[in-house]
Amino acid sequence: MRVVCLSGGVGGAKLARGLHDVLAPGELTVIGNVGDDLEVLGLHVSPDLDSILYALTSLNDEERGWGRGDETWRTLESAKAWGGEGWFLLGDLDLGLHLVRTQALRDGETLSAVTARLTERAGLATRLVPATDDPLRTQVVTPDGPFSFQEWFVARQHRDEVDQVLYEGAYAARPAAGVLDAIRRAELLVFAPSNPYVSIGPILAVDAIRATIAAQGVRCVAVSPLIGGRAVKGPLDRMLTRMSGGTTPAHVADCYKGLIDALVIDRADAPGEAPVPLVVTDTLMVDRDVARRLAETVLEATR
Ligand code: GDP
Repeated sequence: MRVVCLSGGVGGAKLARGLHDVLAPGELTVIGNVGDDLEVLGLHVSPDLDSILYALTSLNDEERGWGRGDETWRTLESAKAWGGEGWFLLGDLDLGLHLVRTQALRDGETLSAVTARLTERAGLATRLVPATDDPLRTQVVTPDGPFSFQEWFVARQHRDEVDQVLYEGAYAARPAAGVLDAIRRAELLVFAPSNPYVSIGPILAVDAIRATIAAQGVRCVAVSPLIGGRAVKGPLDRMLTRMSGGTTPAHVADCYKGLIDALVIDRADAPGEAPVPLVVTDTLMVDRDVARRLAETVLEATR
């Protein structure tokens, strides 16, 4: 079955790997969020694409949830000692990827082209495509003013409440090559258990992507990133409460109004009234097997 999965980093990458494991080679395309992208120490970093790439290649750090396993931090320590910025953690192994990608971008290659080259190099049959090659950056508006996504998320440790999320550049952003084609050819669309505001939102903020999904006749299934009304990690529960008034399955489903046909929720959540049918299962992906089982449930939710 040809599947397209929209994904952010931490939660998204886990389900992307589950889908990758259960589908036949070449059946999965993952469309990754680039709203979190930034430049650090002169290097272009795409944190969500990297989390997905590392998860699919099993190079990820399972404990930390981001970055590479067996990581060391000597280069960053050295950069800091020389007065360089050290607020955004980049490990030594991780830096290798950022160097290669930054050089390619400086040589005029698009983000989607270099991402395709990296996945091919890793021997992956699954395709990973950034939502757009154009600059699209997420900003959060807080009581203390607007912040770029990473300034709020990493530097300020997402302590500020969020009143609004903006997608700078979305208006002019075009889908990267292959994105619309993959959506049109898909037999199932999946929204991974990622933050709807800052991970899936920036992908859907590209008009043509949202419109193509809305017009696509096949099933679209989202997996809730909340368990028992709480985020597994990160600020989503606070964001939903403040911006949407609650953390029930209905509040999550409302983030994807007009797009999804079903929402997969955890057994810990009271189903209640929801605008779409709910599928109840275990959604906490504590390991690769659980992620596989969740992926199978998502595929079955099409029937
Ligand atoms: P980011 O871009 O790195 O912030 O990553 P995502 O948006 O993809 O992931 C963050 C979201 O994933 C959070 O809202 C978490 O609640 C959710 N999440 C993380 N792990 C799991 C899991 O195992 N199961 C579910 N259902 N959600 C998860």
